[in-house]
Amino acid sequence: MEQHVAAILEAIGEDPSREGLVKTPQRVSKALRELTRGYDQDPEAIINGALFTEEYSEMILMKDIDFFSLCEHHVLPFFGKAHIAYIPNGKIVGISKLARLVDVFARRLQVQERLTTQIAHLLMDTLHPEGVAVVVEAEHLCMRMRGVEKQNSYVATSAMLGVFRERQETRDEFMNLINGAGPGRR
Ligand SMILES: [Zn+2]
Repeated sequence: MEQHVAAILEAIGEDPSREGLVKTPQRVSKALRELTRGYDQDPEAIINGALFTEEYSEMILMKDIDFFSLCEHHVLPFFGKAHIAYIPNGKIVGISKLARLVDVFARRLQVQERLTTQIAHLLMDTLHPEGVAVVVEAEHLCMRMRGVEKQNSYVATSAMLGVFRERQETRDEFMNLINGAGPGRR
C-alpha cells in the first residue's frame, strides 16, 4: 500500500522524497487500515456475545452515537451521529454493543444509506426484536470541501423495521425521543 500512496503523491505533483513526505506513505497506510478495521470485525459475534433474556418490552434507545466513516465514492470522511432504538422480544443486548456495532460498519468504505440499513438489519437478524429504528445524520466532506452542495447541508437517512415500520405511533415516539431535549443534546 505504501508504494501506491507514494505513487499518488507523485501523481498530484509532489515529491515523495522531500523531508515532510518521507514517512507519509507509511502514515497514510496505517491510518487507512485503522479507518477500515471494520472489515476484520464480525458484527454478529459482537451482538450474539452480549444477549440477555429479559422481559422488558418497551423501547430501548441509544441516541447521539458519534461515528466516523469514509465515503466509498471519494474516500473522504463523512461523520455525524447515529440513533438506534429497538423494542425487545425476550432478549436485550448490552447497550454499549450498539455503539460497537455502528463502529464496525462505519469503519469500512460506505455510503450512508447502506450504513443505516446494515445496522438495522443486523440487529433484526440477531436480536429478533419486535422492531428496530435507525436514524443517521451526517456531514460529508466530499460535498463540503469540494463545494458541490450547500456548505451547511447534512444528510439524514433512516431504516424502520418491524413495529417501527408498521405503527405510526411507535415511529412518532422514536422521532420525538431523538429530537427532544436530553443529556445528549447541545
Ligand atoms: Zn463522496
